[in-house]
Amino acid sequence: MIDVALLGTGGMMPLPNRWLSSMMLRYNGSSILVDCGEGTQVALKEQGWSPKPIDVMIFTHMHADHISGLPGMLLTMGNADRREPLLIVGPKGITRVVEGLRMIARDLPFEIEYKEIGANEESFDVCGLKVEAFRVCHNVTCYGYSFSLERAGKFDAKRAREQGIDIKLWSRLQRGETITVDDMTFTPDMVLGPSRKGLKVTYCTDTRPLDIIARKAEGSDLFICEGMYGEKDMLDKAKEHKHMTFYEAATLAKKAEVKELWLTHYSPSLPNPKAYTKEVREIFPGTVVAKDGRTVELKFEED
Ligand SMILES: [Zn+2]
Ligand SMILES: [Zn+2]
Repeated sequence: MIDVALLGTGGMMPLPNRWLSSMMLRYNGSSILVDCGEGTQVALKEQGWSPKPIDVMIFTHMHADHISGLPGMLLTMGNADRREPLLIVGPKGITRVVEGLRMIARDLPFEIEYKEIGANEESFDVCGLKVEAFRVCHNVTCYGYSFSLERAGKFDAKRAREQGIDIKLWSRLQRGETITVDDMTFTPDMVLGPSRKGLKVTYCTDTRPLDIIARKAEGSDLFICEGMYGEKDMLDKAKEHKHMTFYEAATLAKKAEVKELWLTHYSPSLPNPKAYTKEVREIFPGTVVAKDGRTVELKFEED
């Protein structure tokens, strides 16, 4: 089970009732925060979720509306007496930017570790989730991220019995352990059926639409994507500022065959994003013109 909260839905500047775009994922006792602009702490507080269990912070890019809330967030985590190390992930150069911001957030009771992404595509594991970073097209280096929770196949007692595997080893193999007994090695795949559909969340903001976004978001249970403008005549502006319209985001969602699309990162010039719901759903019916604080609890499908 993965909990997702879209803490804010604003782009460029926070507004009353619209904090800057940021997402938090909770899985298995760990929290992952994606982007932390000005005011993300307040949005988190409104959500009632704690910053203390944030084990990983991931940044799409180093524009202020996505990272300027970091020093305050670090201080709050320090004041909550967090001791465990924090991993910060972002585009190449993130270490230098965060170390600069730390000039105003010194003396933290926890270590910060860094992971800089340089390649166009990169996969890594955090907190039991597989993360795929993919470079998108903005006016500075920017990445989108997919988070996947894989699900092993069902235990197959018949297969285990046929291979003569001692019943005492079954539960350990089922839990994913590899066991060696008297020079014989038993692996979990020997007792499990084909792997089952897991869970996938893709977060992508500050970019023009690209094929790679649809490819990486493919089959997501939830695709959170920027939609800077709802007005159809703003396409040129979206192109100029390297952002997307609602309709471009919905087209990507349709291509990627995701279950649900949540729009985010609205222009401050857009007072009522929901006014465009009907038009955008004509392209992708599973679109939600999201508001701050929207949450979902993603669960594995029933067998
Ligand atoms: Zn932005
Ligand atoms: Zn940006």
